[in-house]
Amino acid sequence: MKHIAILGSTGSIGENTLAVIRHFPKSFKAVALATHSNIEILLKQIKEFRPEYVCVADREAALKLRSRLKGNLKIFAGEEGLEELVSKSKADKVVLAISGSAALPPLLKAIENGKDIALANKEALVMAGPLVMKMASRNKIKILPIDSEQSAIWQCLEGEKYGNLKNIYLTASGGPFRKTGRNRLRKISRSQVLKHPKWSMGPKITVDSATLMNKGLEVLEAMFLFDVPCAKIKVLVHPEAIIHSMVEFIDGVVIAQLSETDMRIPIQYALSYPERLANSLPAIDFYKLKELHFEKPDFGKFPCLGLAYRAATALGTSPAVLNAANEVSVGEFLDKRLEFISIPRVIEKVLNKHRNIAEPDLTEIKAADSWAREEAYNIIERLN
Ligand code: NAD
Ligand code: MG
Repeated sequence: MKHIAILGSTGSIGENTLAVIRHFPKSFKAVALATHSNIEILLKQIKEFRPEYVCVADREAALKLRSRLKGNLKIFAGEEGLEELVSKSKADKVVLAISGSAALPPLLKAIENGKDIALANKEALVMAGPLVMKMASRNKIKILPIDSEQSAIWQCLEGEKYGNLKNIYLTASGGPFRKTGRNRLRKISRSQVLKHPKWSMGPKITVDSATLMNKGLEVLEAMFLFDVPCAKIKVLVHPEAIIHSMVEFIDGVVIAQLSETDMRIPIQYALSYPERLANSLPAIDFYKLKELHFEKPDFGKFPCLGLAYRAATALGTSPAVLNAANEVSVGEFLDKRLEFISIPRVIEKVLNKHRNIAEPDLTEIKAADSWAREEAYNIIERLN
């Protein structure tokens, strides 16, 4: 029986993780759950899964939860509460399913406490990848990816020598605007962006999928997880989203990982690794599928992808700056204070002003993150 803590249990990945746990009650137990403020869903989860600890990052919502719960379930509150929950819970694996940079402190805390990580969140790794990976290897922690592309690359590399890797083909569905003309992107609304053709996900990653920044963040994520330079990572648009990524080796062999587009599949593997468990999730029907398609990404139409490669080449504090400027821009877009087409413009302006620090420590990364957020807000204010 594996004991699992889920940070971000009320989100899309969090709920899918609980669906996997529900399906395998003899293999997994959810011992700790955490949300930002969604206590309605958390209450249902507490009733069903009976965790030892919960955390509500929003303090007011934590008080509300206390008033609605009988018994003495331990409730941690605030951002520090997430770290306390990670240290105190008996979980042997922590699922990081919080969106955005808020995942970095509990991620570091989990590594410090010797807990393996099933990592869905990408922003924390993008911000501080080299530090996180170094700390994980020092503490002998496994970082098991949940993001479907990283899960695919991980599975393709199982048992292989990393030195034999020639290229990674990181696949992308292309998002909702793959076929939309560049000029029409000017008039894109929030609701058009929030309709992803292949995946149902939280709002932030759905916007990132529409700008292709999600793929850019994944380039950085793959670099850090698998210690591969970005020159060896090729983005490949594959609209069916059946091949979740591929690895090409020096002898011309390509290994791909294929499965239906269902996040429960990579989540289950990150939980069960190194075992595989039989499930009843949909399997690929190749007779129905018939064809798979591939295209080059359009860097002109989706400048976020090029900006991510720029940060991936510069490294240092640049990925943290890219991520922070993106988080602010996406937030402002979701709050209807920024147009879709302006998201990459803001990020580019922030990157242009940034003075990169090579091999930064955590304090320098946090300072770069705060600086970039402030710059992004200033730029957006001037645009409006
Ligand atoms: P979501 O918005 O649906 O859920 C986010 C969860 O995190 C919620 O439970 C929310 O309450 C919690 N949360 C947010 N801010 C918090 C904070 N400050 N403190 C504590 N909890 C907080 O997002 P999602 O789609 O589930 O994505 C989560 C992460 O997984 C993201 O980093 C995303 O990039 C990554 N990811 C998601 C998918 C997907 O299919 N949804 C796929 C790959 C990777
Ligand atoms: Mg992905």
